[in-house]
Amino acid sequence: MQKYYLWTVGCQMNVADSEKLAAGFTRLGLKAVDRPERADIVVVNTCSVRQHAEDRAYSKLGRVRDIKRERPGLKLAVMGCMVGLKTDALEKRFPYVDVFARPQQFEGIMALVATPAEDLGGEFWPSTYAVPDGPCAYVPVVHGCNKFCTYCIVPYRRGREKSRPVDEIVREVAYVTAHGVREVTLLGQTVEAYGHDLPAQPDLGDLMRELSALDRLQRIRFLTSYPKDMTQRILEAVATVPKVMENFSLPVQAGSDAVLESMRRGYTKSEYMEKIAEVRAMMPGAGITTDIIVGYPGETDRDFKETCELLEQLRFDKVHVATYSPRPGTIAFRRMEDDVPAEVKAARLQRVEEIEERISQEINDGYAGTVQQVLVEGIRNDQPYGRTRTGKLVHIDAAARVGSLVGVRIAHAGPFSLRGTPQDALVLA
Ligand code: SAM
Ligand code: SF4
Repeated sequence: MQKYYLWTVGCQMNVADSEKLAAGFTRLGLKAVDRPERADIVVVNTCSVRQHAEDRAYSKLGRVRDIKRERPGLKLAVMGCMVGLKTDALEKRFPYVDVFARPQQFEGIMALVATPAEDLGGEFWPSTYAVPDGPCAYVPVVHGCNKFCTYCIVPYRRGREKSRPVDEIVREVAYVTAHGVREVTLLGQTVEAYGHDLPAQPDLGDLMRELSALDRLQRIRFLTSYPKDMTQRILEAVATVPKVMENFSLPVQAGSDAVLESMRRGYTKSEYMEKIAEVRAMMPGAGITTDIIVGYPGETDRDFKETCELLEQLRFDKVHVATYSPRPGTIAFRRMEDDVPAEVKAARLQRVEEIEERISQEINDGYAGTVQQVLVEGIRNDQPYGRTRTGKLVHIDAAARVGSLVGVRIAHAGPFSLRGTPQDALVLA
């Protein structure tokens, strides 16, 4: 039996791609191993959003190169966002790699291990479903991105938006829920763009309604949201379909109109604030997280101050902050100088983290004493854990069955997680 080792870095979409590839390997009879030394094929699934992620892939590749020197029969594939349309530069730099595969272009990888007669499936292998170990699954619903924010490499690597048909997604979710999944996270780089390219033009709300009719499915999450694409109609679906969680990942990126315009985000600070107000008016207490880039080209102290003010005003549950990383091939890389010194970027990053930690703690303090619906996702160090409908991580101080929905009374709140005990009367499923 052939063995595979799969290493993944990057976003949830990349994790979903790896799960799909793993499902394909399983279909061909391969077995997963946890070290490259034991594998017949190694796949490195890469991310290119920031230099740091690329550096991690490079170091992984260096390690596999050493193994391959001793065992030349080992097959090595690189997939994901580091692989663009042209692979000449990569081939030159990593001559020991057997296949470079763009995101979701699995066929070349499968051909390394399959016999020619075996069915390698189509682009997204509609009939090969990945079933995760636990009760939560990622389900990509729209691939690619049409936005071209100036700093971002994603549209160049994942291509234009391509939605999967509603019935294909329903079949996949029905399958995974029949195999123990209770919560799905619908994925897209801009998930509200779902459906505009399909003949009947369903929107994300239509998809949520269809999925919510599946009995075994308990909860539906969705990410990542794009302010301009989040229509009133979609928000109504989130607010009214009971299985859809009140949990938004809504990146703002910056709090200064000058920076937002330079990034080509397509909204102003006040438009973004209105969107948040709309969400909160319809769903008071919704969990809202955001992404911030600090040190974008030309970001002044004044611009950064506006970002900090925005964070204080909007009070997000969580902020994912990163320093600007120039990405060759993007508009910002070609036209703008990376002119914010590294130490200024680092100081701004730290400042955002300080603000975020304080605000998260204050918001989480408000959960103390409340009872929250928690889906038990797993058990770590003998302690069950899961998430509230608003996306808060909860550690549970008693036995709880993985996959069950439990009412948990929150006893302790920290900035990054909550802790509490289940209420017997509130075990929900
Ligand atoms: N589509 C989502 C959006 O509209 O923001 C996010 C997808 S993007 C792959 C994930 C996050 O990576 C972004 O929100 C942004 O904060 C960060 N990111 C993207 N390019 C970056 C860059 N060149 N440097 C630093 N962070 C970057
Ligand atoms: Fe990148 Fe912008 Fe598309 Fe998000 S919306 S993936 S940041 S180009």
